[in-house]
Amino acid sequence: MKFKDIEFSTYLKNFPDANGYFGKYGGCYIPPELQAAMREIADAYHTICKSRKFINELRRIRQEFQGRPTPISHLERLSDRIGTGVQLYVKREDLNHTGAHKLNHCMGEVLLAKFMGKKKVIAETGAGQHGVALATAAAYFGMECDIYMGAVDIKKQAPNVARMKILGARVIKVTDGLATLKEAVDAAFVAYSQEYNEAIYCIGSVVGPHPFPLMVRDFQAVVGVEAREQFIGMTGELPDAVVACVGGGSNSMGIFSGFLNDPVDLYGVEPLGRGSKMGDHAASLTYGEEGVMHGFNSIMLKDERGEPAPVYSVASGLDYPSSGPEHAFLHDLGRVKYDVVGDEETIDAFFELSRMEGIIPALESAHAVAYAKKLARTMGKGAILINLSGRGDKDMDYVIEKYGIR
Ligand SMILES: *Cc1c(COP(=O)(O)O)cnc(C)c1O
Repeated sequence: MKFKDIEFSTYLKNFPDANGYFGKYGGCYIPPELQAAMREIADAYHTICKSRKFINELRRIRQEFQGRPTPISHLERLSDRIGTGVQLYVKREDLNHTGAHKLNHCMGEVLLAKFMGKKKVIAETGAGQHGVALATAAAYFGMECDIYMGAVDIKKQAPNVARMKILGARVIKVTDGLATLKEAVDAAFVAYSQEYNEAIYCIGSVVGPHPFPLMVRDFQAVVGVEAREQFIGMTGELPDAVVACVGGGSNSMGIFSGFLNDPVDLYGVEPLGRGSKMGDHAASLTYGEEGVMHGFNSIMLKDERGEPAPVYSVASGLDYPSSGPEHAFLHDLGRVKYDVVGDEETIDAFFELSRMEGIIPALESAHAVAYAKKLARTMGKGAILINLSGRGDKDMDYVIEKYGIR
């Protein structure tokens, strides 16, 4: 399929280019001393992604350890309630081991680290979701795991800190500055620049310098490949639309990659938080502009000084001031439509999916459900497939405390 001069039947092979660019977005903007380390990872990945041994090993792990393929569920009661005839379906990444899609790329990254002969994986974490997924993968492969985390976040996210420690990871407290995610990123980068001979840095989404946006997309593509085949098996046709939430953009790239070459409308949902004022949301593709941060060129939210702006969302996995370079590219191209959903509609969808379907969604995923409900009301007929990126156990206490039972 051709769309605005881009041939999508060969798109996944041709994008990004050899230097990690999706059009003008992407690249590798990092200090010279780390360029060689990133090149080593890119070279290793290029060799390994074609190796039968690597592919078979990852396939076996997906099945035997992660519990893949995850099913697709038809949301019959919710579809009936909307009442336009449009049918909603969810791809159940909440049923992937550890309860979200993040393990899909963490298992791939740590398997790569093992093939490269590394002994340790390093990462930062904010809410702790990436840290837990990486600690799980490190435990599986018998690797050391250092997770850098701001002191403020350590206090707020006690259950995830406990999980990481039980899984055998070292949680390293960062007390500089505001002691949250940004400082944790800086500390993890400093550690990596000293330890790259024996360690690799594992990024938690389709962001960061090349080759991470490529690798993480490829590792998440299993979601799109499974979903396309399962959906056709269930209904005999393709969905009319696919909807996913966008933080850094990994769960959405995973499912979108399976449908880019199909006549299927793709929707990325960004968090509008409390409203459209700077600081109240994290809708970077909707309100942002081009810029470089964390090693890559993309569309980002900047403050007056051009630094990454403060962001907010009720879903801590979505409050990032940019999104992966491939999303910026697909945004400019118009192949994916990006739109927003605020906190209130998200909380309604969180309770509605729980009550009507027996699935408690992560607040991140509830953004996609809320958007799909609105889309279904405008469509009249057809089918919408939602990527349910994770389960909501992690959010229950917070929702009840802040919003009560609805
Ligand atoms: C981290 C997270 C997200 C956001 O990350 P993406 O890279 O945009 O997918 C979404 N859903 C859940 C459940 C998460 O844990």
